[in-house]
Amino acid sequence: MTTPTTASRVLVLNSGSSSVKYQLLDARDDSRLAVGLVERIGEETSRLVHTPLTGGGEGKRERTAPIADHAAALKAVADELAADGLGLDSPELAAIGHRVVHGGMRFTAPTVITEEVLEEIERLVPVAPLHNPANITGIRTAQALRPDLPQVAVFDTAFHTTMPESAARYAIDTETADVHRVRRYGFHGTSHAYVSRRTAELLGKDPSEVNVIVLHLGNGASASAVRGGRCVDTSMGLTPLEGLVMGTRSGDVDPAVVFHLVRNAGMSVDEVDALLNKKSGLIGLCGDNDMREIRRRVDEGDERAQLAFDVYIHRLKKYIGAYYAVLGRVDAIAFTAGVGENAAPVREAAVAGLEELGLAVDASLNAVRGDEPRLVSPEYARVAVAVVPTDEELEIMHQTYALVTEGSAGNASGIASGNASGI
Ligand code: AMP
Repeated sequence: MTTPTTASRVLVLNSGSSSVKYQLLDARDDSRLAVGLVERIGEETSRLVHTPLTGGGEGKRERTAPIADHAAALKAVADELAADGLGLDSPELAAIGHRVVHGGMRFTAPTVITEEVLEEIERLVPVAPLHNPANITGIRTAQALRPDLPQVAVFDTAFHTTMPESAARYAIDTETADVHRVRRYGFHGTSHAYVSRRTAELLGKDPSEVNVIVLHLGNGASASAVRGGRCVDTSMGLTPLEGLVMGTRSGDVDPAVVFHLVRNAGMSVDEVDALLNKKSGLIGLCGDNDMREIRRRVDEGDERAQLAFDVYIHRLKKYIGAYYAVLGRVDAIAFTAGVGENAAPVREAAVAGLEELGLAVDASLNAVRGDEPRLVSPEYARVAVAVVPTDEELEIMHQTYALVTEGSAGNASGIASGNASGI
């Protein structure tokens, strides 16, 4: 490794309620120096997995021992990094980039964190009760460790703040909506920004020239309609519950399902919340939320797995059709995240029968696996179907580094973005 002359490293932190995921990246060449996670923070069986990548990815270290809180977790991470000569006291560290789930309407781009910014993130806790508190804890912990270092918040919601009011508003009483900030925010923004831009690159075009439907299909799942590099609609709403069928979330349901269950099934609001967020979607329909397992069961003729797959695909198709209509002209559909990148049968089924819309998948291209962005549509297809692996940490690093070195949140296309891994 050559010694850099200026600070070029960024530590990317993704703090959850009981976990911290991290990556140390170098902005000069987009390389990753170390990756890892701490999970089950606050339990007896906390686990830290740290992989230094400077020596070719060897030397993964794992330890299970109680880690009491986020401060202890970050200290343990700092110790692991220091053991590899990558300590957080290094003058080569330029900034820490934090994934923050909810930036509301206020944060439309990555933002250098000040006390005032933290207060605003705190004010958004009522609309992101699970995520923003954990993000705030992660930020405060990192600040305590390196108070002199710029810390940047990259918001999951930021990329979607370009949605027109017609897409962002729910058709409910305006005053109630405004007072309680009830509107559609969208999530997975970093991924949608990154993937839509990479898709344009794959087509050899500038993002401003192309219209893309991005399908981020992981355990959480969301679709977005991106016109000329700007999001014009997305499937998640006030919370990540709306939209597509997900691993454990229902996605769209008639809101009256909630009233019905509260009034007639004797369930509390918290129980319905848990039902729709944790016991619905694929796991609710068939008992499995892993698409690999569902496909295996489908291949064995399992009817519940087949139904779960069919409901999943039906919803996906509805969103493809809806966003086709929203955009008017579609240049590409991009599949990303765990299911989108790996599950060829999902890609095939999602566009099956849509030839009239210019959509088709080439079976042999679709069967090829790989880490690089690639086309899976036949040459004759009017709309490109692409598989574009997402990389939210790389995007957060770019956004963070651009902000602290150039004073702008710009990237190649000037897109402001957020991030959502784990949503
Ligand atoms: P993510 O949230 O992006 O990490 O995606 C996680 C999900 O990706 C898992 O729950 C699986 O359902 C899915 N997945 C990962 N690998 C495969 C694969 N080879 N085939 C089908 N689905 C996969």
